[in-house]
Amino acid sequence: MTEPDDRPAFAGTVTAVARVTPHMVRVVIGEVHSLDGQGLDAAQHPDEFFGLWVPGPDALPLKRYYTVRERRPETGELVVDLLLHGHGPATEWAARAAVGDTVLFEAPRGHYAPPADTTRILLCGDATALPAIGRILDERALTGAGGPPVTVVIALDDPTDRQELTVRPGDDVRWCAPGDLVAETRRLSADDPDAYVWFSGEASDMRTVRTTLRRERRIPPHRWMTMGYWRRDSERWIARFEAAGPGLRDAIEEVFSSEADDEEQTDRFEDLLAEKGLL
Ligand SMILES: Cc1cc2nc3c(=O)[nH]c(=O)nc-3n(C[C@H](O)[C@H](O)[C@H](O)COP(=O)(O)OP(=O)(O)OC[C@H]3O[C@@H](n4cnc5c(N)ncnc54)[C@H](O)[C@@H]3O)c2cc1C
Repeated sequence: MTEPDDRPAFAGTVTAVARVTPHMVRVVIGEVHSLDGQGLDAAQHPDEFFGLWVPGPDALPLKRYYTVRERRPETGELVVDLLLHGHGPATEWAARAAVGDTVLFEAPRGHYAPPADTTRILLCGDATALPAIGRILDERALTGAGGPPVTVVIALDDPTDRQELTVRPGDDVRWCAPGDLVAETRRLSADDPDAYVWFSGEASDMRTVRTTLRRERRIPPHRWMTMGYWRRDSERWIARFEAAGPGLRDAIEEVFSSEADDEEQTDRFEDLLAEKGLL
């Protein structure tokens, strides 16, 4: 959703469009320039993402989040892979994106940060997580040998959307059906409690994984990162959220402006949603 005080920080132009797999469109953004004077800092996290403004109904721009699949320092270009998932302003824009289109976006930020003593890295998610997982593996390859092995679990609706990933001996890549993603993540993370777990995908799936890691197994937060990348039937959820009244929004704002750490804030946020049947 676009917040009223949101402002794009950068503008760019689409310099290439390609179909990576049947449901994944690759858009290359070049000729990037700052709108507010800030620079496009070097990437801190390989799962970096930004808000991208796309035309919504009535041509009003709406913000949607996308991963920077690749940075091309030699040309200053950024590469974004967008899933064609059905209906929605971003997927519809991706389906018709063309060289010369103007795009507006935020400064990228990310979360991926495995601790130094990690014995294995688990990268789990659905098709929307594939760009971040691909980037994490590509960046690891650039750092040379060393580091823990990686297990990848990716759920796809359509197996023809599988992509070649940059793996090493000792890594393990598993493709599964969307309905198996959560169980597979829970099982693999239980097998290796010292693993760093990175999970991104549908919001309820993410909540189940987060609940397992944080509330049931009490694994310290530096050993995992979970993020909801999209929400099933989001129109219905947003309508129910709005129907819960301004009190819920105020309570959420209070939580996120509190002194509690990020995960405590998220715990309280989840509790508020659960009270309203919105989890
Ligand atoms: C940090 C972050 C990084 C992300 N990176 C990527 C990325 O690199 N590539 C990418 O493709 N997506 C990525 N996403 C997910 C993407 O932002 C969402 O899928 C987004 O909702 C798409 O917007 P839309 O305008 O197409 O659809 P919306 O207007 O948001 O939704 C329209 C309808 O489509 C449904 N819907 C939305 N997304 C999906 C989906 N993936 N599958 C099935 N139904 C869906 C909704 O429930 C709703 O019914 C990322 C999300 C986050 C938070």
